[in-house]
Amino acid sequence: MEPPQIKKLDVAVINRIAAGEVIQRPANALKELIENSLDAKSTNIQVTVKNGGLKLLQIHDNGTGIRKEDFEIVCERFTTSKLREFEDLHKISTYGFRGEALASISHVAHLTITSKTKQDLCAYQARFVDSTLQGAPKPMAGNQGTIITVEDLFYNMNVRKKALRSPGEEYQKISDVVSKYAIHNAHVGFALKKCNENNDIRTPQGSTQVENIQIIYGNTIARELVEFSSENERFQFTAKGYISNVNYSSKKFNFLLFINHRLVDCQSLKKCIDQVYSTYLPKNTHPFVYLSLELDPNNIDINVHPTKHEVHFLNQEQIIESIVTDMENKLLSSSSSRTFYAQA
Ligand code: ADP
Ligand code: MG
Repeated sequence: MEPPQIKKLDVAVINRIAAGEVIQRPANALKELIENSLDAKSTNIQVTVKNGGLKLLQIHDNGTGIRKEDFEIVCERFTTSKLREFEDLHKISTYGFRGEALASISHVAHLTITSKTKQDLCAYQARFVDSTLQGAPKPMAGNQGTIITVEDLFYNMNVRKKALRSPGEEYQKISDVVSKYAIHNAHVGFALKKCNENNDIRTPQGSTQVENIQIIYGNTIARELVEFSSENERFQFTAKGYISNVNYSSKKFNFLLFINHRLVDCQSLKKCIDQVYSTYLPKNTHPFVYLSLELDPNNIDINVHPTKHEVHFLNQEQIIESIVTDMENKLLSSSSSRTFYAQA
């Protein structure tokens, strides 16, 4: 038999495959969009969702906006306002740096951007298909900031769309992302709602982390929080956050982890924390832990694929050990002071 001929894939197909890898579900598209809004110095971020984000995912911010002149290339791959040279990667303080999020979204959804900068007299709106601006941006009324509207996500990826069957589950994941960013960025006001309904989440601008934990996760957790911090010069890290004391336990382990202000997963850290608490909590129950870990950017590889939320860093074992030891001491001291207080 003749060997089959090798052919180059169509560019549109290549881009769609790549985009489908970056954008796996509504919640991770939203994470990228929230990070863009935070990068743009927004102090207010509103998210509106229809059908678990599959029909509509809209994010409205009051940040710097996008210059009308930049509309032409904003959705092209590898266009960014945040990174100029490879060396910048080490000192980068913004979330984005690859210029892939908007491009990817435009390949797997109908994307509309409405934006107004401080200098512009009016807002401009445009639609994007496969990275390309459709027609000239239309002038319209609007306040400073950006509205990103993502409609019919995965309209051109039937299998993916079918795999995401449950809008309820997608909404839960979206709500999780909004909750976590709202707590980590307490100074920014966040809101999340389903289309034509009231807000499910609303945190005020200029709030505190504890206030937001109370608003989002409820009084039962907020009442039992202790402030936690840990640092180590040798391994160059600081960790700060709020953790539940030994009086609180829950079936679900609420673990909010930010490393250098990025929402990430770290299974080994999570496991070790759970282990520490297991001595004090009823069997099969877990704590609430919010941790903001800051590492020397040189010790963590941030140039990872956007979907790789699981992180690895230098001296990981020692750093985890050090955090967990401090956590155990904190738990012991907070439970003994409570007992003392109760006896007094
Ligand atoms: P990256 O964030 O990696 O630069 P994105 O595709 O997420 O790539 O965004 C491309 C560019 O679009 C950003 O660099 C930024 O200049 C602009 N941009 C995106 N979202 C916003 C927003 N909400 N407000 C202001 N500018 C934005
Ligand atoms: Mg981005």
